Amino acid sequence: MYRSHTCGELRATDNTTEVILSGWVQTIRDKGFVLWIDLRDRYGITQLVFDEERSSKAVLEAAKDVGREYVLQVKGTVIERASKNPNLPTGDIEILVSEFKVLNNALTPPFTIEDVTDGGEDLRMKYRYLDIRRNPVKENLIFRHKVTMEVRKYLSEKEFIEVETPYLIKSTPEGARDFVVPSRMNEGQFYALPQSPQTFKQLLMVGGMDRYFQIVKCFRDEDLRADRQPEFTQIDCEMAFVEQEDILGVFEGLTRHLLQEIKGVQVGDFPRITYDEAMRRYGNDKPDIRFGMEFGELNTVAQHKDFNVFNTAELVVGIAVPDGASYTRKEIDALVDWVRRPQVGAKGMVYVKCNPDGTYKSSVDKFYDQEDLAQWAKITGAKAGDLICVLSGSVNETRAQLSALRMEMATRLQLRKAAVFAPLWVTDFPLLELDEETGRYHAMHHPFTAPKPGQISMLEKDPGAVKANAYDLVLNGNEIGGGSIRIYDRATQEVMFKHLGFSEEEAKAQFGFLMDAFQYGAPPHGGIAFGLDRLVAILGGQETIRDFIAFPKNNSGRDVMIDAPAPIDEDQLKELSLKLSVPS
Ligand code: ASP
Repeated sequence: MYRSHTCGELRATDNTTEVILSGWVQTIRDKGFVLWIDLRDRYGITQLVFDEERSSKAVLEAAKDVGREYVLQVKGTVIERASKNPNLPTGDIEILVSEFKVLNNALTPPFTIEDVTDGGEDLRMKYRYLDIRRNPVKENLIFRHKVTMEVRKYLSEKEFIEVETPYLIKSTPEGARDFVVPSRMNEGQFYALPQSPQTFKQLLMVGGMDRYFQIVKCFRDEDLRADRQPEFTQIDCEMAFVEQEDILGVFEGLTRHLLQEIKGVQVGDFPRITYDEAMRRYGNDKPDIRFGMEFGELNTVAQHKDFNVFNTAELVVGIAVPDGASYTRKEIDALVDWVRRPQVGAKGMVYVKCNPDGTYKSSVDKFYDQEDLAQWAKITGAKAGDLICVLSGSVNETRAQLSALRMEMATRLQLRKAAVFAPLWVTDFPLLELDEETGRYHAMHHPFTAPKPGQISMLEKDPGAVKANAYDLVLNGNEIGGGSIRIYDRATQEVMFKHLGFSEEEAKAQFGFLMDAFQYGAPPHGGIAFGLDRLVAILGGQETIRDFIAFPKNNSGRDVMIDAPAPIDEDQLKELSLKLSVPS
């Protein structure tokens, strides 16, 4: 028996008990005649004491050879501590060690195994197994486990069945590139790793499973953006015989359950806004509504004066930054520089100080009088003391730029509070999105998403105007879930593929199996998928998903611990009938 107790459970009431503990050496304090070791395992830390008199000289001497992170098994008696440590659950006791065994020794770890470590990100990732010994990382993994348990509990109670779908499949378009796997037995042929189980979950609905979910890995070979992982986890769900309203109800319920069980936070009915409205009010389809600073469109009041920049702009739009009127010239210049950074891309920024005395002072006083500026204040909701920041240009770009500024100001003003949870649904997304580069439309969600009832006929004339039966769940400025009601008949699916530029043959070759299935009594169905990594990070009050993944990839998509990806040898290539055109 390696242990009778864990390192986190002994208390004063266990006084005089004979125990066996196993764990890692956290710290050693050697006073010569007496020596203390903090022994750590997943459950906590227990102090061990070795001394000449009570332990025996031999045991004390042997203990002096022990190093940090050694793995020990100790036998001893629980005794009350002379000086108690109220910060430690086991702080009332210590173990007077009578015997111990080194189960394994350890090299000196490359960084300290403490809550606040001296190890940088790269080093911690290389030795992730040591990083996981640290409380913050360990707690995050336990937290993730709790979230997934609550997800499983809620969905199981609602009659969802967890079904596994294959990883070696054919391409499922979710807007990214596929990771592919060569097939040794089928020369020159490849599997694709799923970008999501989309088609399979739809086939499960055709199969009559009625309610499916799966906590599942998805793989997307995207250009790497900060805090994206090439493999990530979804809570993937599908339901038969449902309309959008049914799905929103169930998954609003799931989100509420998680907030209640995990955070003890109660939220009311989730607000809903359409995609168009989200873009108009926040310039963003995943608005953070924990704070205001809503957009005010100023075209009607700012155009047709003598200010040409605005007159020639498609959109003139502003936000009121709370208490910004007190900014100095220097601070405002810095803000202008900020919006002009290439990452934001605005050409400039017009501002209006709403002075506490009710007057206005703007950077465009030459063109606008006090009455004009009062209108701007009204439209942007600016109060005395606020600063109105105005951008202009083409609609999409200007909205994106002002949205970036809105988020930046909220961060600076500490309005994005981690303890506040503001979920909402964004609905009525466009069905198609124009790819500016190729001039082709592609599905904004995915090609299996149904258009709003009655809108399919518009596909011919005005494809960009067609709305989808698609919705996103947004939490604190992050898209945590997205889904849609699906097409479930062959004819509509064929029309959809045609508009996405697939020839009949291409559609058949890639998705014939799905369209065939639709001919055998496919029920109306729809679903949603949540990004588990992000959801857990937000619930945990943190922004980086890497912190909640046991073995994440770095920003270049590499696992620096196992050193992957890596070349494979000539024999393996040959076996797979592959030839590299670049030297490996
Ligand atoms: N498969 C979709 C996605 O990964 C989710 C869905 O439509 O249910 O975003």
